[in-house]
Amino acid sequence: MPETSTYDLIILGGGLAGLCCAIALGQHYKVLLLEKDLFPQHKVCGEYVSNEVLPYLQSLGIDPIQLGAKKITELEITTHTGKPIRTKLPLGGFGISRYALDAELYNRATQCCDVHIETVMTVDFNSEIFTVQTKNKKIYKSTFAVGAFGKRSTIDIAMKRGFIQQKSPWLAVKAHYSYSFEDTKVALHNFEGGYCGLSKVETGAVNACYLTTFKSFKQANSIDEFQKQVMSVNPHLAHFFKHAEPLFPEPLTISQISFSKKPAVENHVFMIGDSAGLIHPLCGNGMAMAIHSAKLLADLFLEHGAGVNARNSIEQAYRDTWQHHFGSRLKTGRRIQNVLLNPSLAKTAFTAAKTFPGLVPAIIKKTHGDLVV
Ligand SMILES: Cc1cc2nc3c(=O)[nH]c(=O)nc-3n(C[C@H](O)[C@H](O)[C@H](O)COP(=O)(O)OP(=O)(O)OC[C@H]3O[C@@H](n4cnc5c(N)ncnc54)[C@H](O)[C@@H]3O)c2cc1C
Repeated sequence: MPETSTYDLIILGGGLAGLCCAIALGQHYKVLLLEKDLFPQHKVCGEYVSNEVLPYLQSLGIDPIQLGAKKITELEITTHTGKPIRTKLPLGGFGISRYALDAELYNRATQCCDVHIETVMTVDFNSEIFTVQTKNKKIYKSTFAVGAFGKRSTIDIAMKRGFIQQKSPWLAVKAHYSYSFEDTKVALHNFEGGYCGLSKVETGAVNACYLTTFKSFKQANSIDEFQKQVMSVNPHLAHFFKHAEPLFPEPLTISQISFSKKPAVENHVFMIGDSAGLIHPLCGNGMAMAIHSAKLLADLFLEHGAGVNARNSIEQAYRDTWQHHFGSRLKTGRRIQNVLLNPSLAKTAFTAAKTFPGLVPAIIKKTHGDLVV
């Protein structure tokens, strides 16, 4: 017979959302976090974190600035042909690698709850109890389950989630480079079919992370050729890929990135972070949303308790609060993406942004929230 352990909550996935939720709740309830990969790991991500979650991270005992994160205060956006717009970021943010940030959160989480490196295969809900089975045939039981397994996981397939049935045209590539670049800037350079973010992380390396469509990517035979032929039409990217020295043996890649709507609660599993919905990366706000959603859910458990009787109230309250905080940000993100990927719309938008300097900060505010404390 497989071994069985019982918890108040099982958190499925240990990225930013899962780890923050584990730290916030592990001190109050019996919590298990299951993560498939060992720490530390590099992840495909722009690695610019909005300051809105800095106070909350600090309250969890994590100080990115002490870890050497770069304080970022300015945004530069360029068109396909390299025309720039520069603006101050209303709230600003910081640059830190996922390698460092996730590992720090993991170390903190291990002090607060059980953390096992195991791959979740199935999650079933029956008679008010969740049964979670892992790849190495362990079975865990809990009153509540929290889905924090990111944008695409085998758990989505096991749960038969709607979005997983559809193909998505997006892929992303990321690597760190040695390159002369301002500490305080995040740049967003557009090219045909995508955009590339550049910003510094705590090591002094520049993180280059781009999102593009398969259609655009298919124009070249390799990552290297794509960067030289398609991305380098933008002179800023041409300069970058000519002079930057790669620090990874190979860039990291992911595909099938979906921006579809997802329910915040599905089959009684509370979804946090990308499992509940991914904002377009050009908004630079997915990590802050992941951390914020973890806090919103943790606060509801602290308010209502983790007993079976609290299930309906927490589910309803979480759906409402998720929609209230993130619903319109996701919509705005989709609209911005549609404009930037259409060269003629992008040209009109850049002319408008040059004429009205308050426009870009106003749009940034629409995709970001207030300080999370
Ligand atoms: C190209 C790109 C660039 C981005 N740039 C930025 C940016 O600059 N700023 C920003 O704020 N956001 C950015 N984002 C968004 C950001 O990366 C995500 O919103 C954030 O990582 C979400 O955190 P999460 O905890 O929900 O998911 P993740 O960090 O993906 O964590 C999910 C975890 O679940 C684990 N997992 C999955 N399946 C299983 C399983 N079966 N069993 C156990 N564990 C499992 C995974 O291993 C992973 O550790 C970007 C996204 C993309 C695609």
